[in-house]
Amino acid sequence: MSTSGDGASSKQPVVYISRSEVFSASHRLHSHQLSDEENRKLYDKCNNPNGHGHNYKVEVVVRGPVDPVTGMVINLSDLKKYIDESVMSVLDHKNIDKDVPYFKDVVRYAACIQFYLIDYEMDGE
Ligand SMILES: [Zn+2]
Repeated sequence: MSTSGDGASSKQPVVYISRSEVFSASHRLHSHQLSDEENRKLYDKCNNPNGHGHNYKVEVVVRGPVDPVTGMVINLSDLKKYIDESVMSVLDHKNIDKDVPYFKDVVRYAACIQFYLIDYEMDGE
């Protein structure tokens, strides 16, 4: 947690709260526009026909003024619940190629997971 002086007034500090979670997921990187040999050379272990697992760390940062009544920017229990609903239940211990519709038609490298999370945030869900 950190504070900043860019709040609406100096009496109401703006605070950043972050929470990290780790999840595990499997995938297979394979482009249908490349040959099998080109896929093996490009994606190496991640082109394994039966999939390949990774551990991912996601950090969510919330910024806002401290509520003068509760003393909180966000209830940390609520933040954990939101992360569980939007990230952990969707991605943790899943085969993202088969279990996550968002990744059905894209090559699923780590940046795509970042795009998925940004899209989720932008949708406001
Ligand atoms: Zn991999």
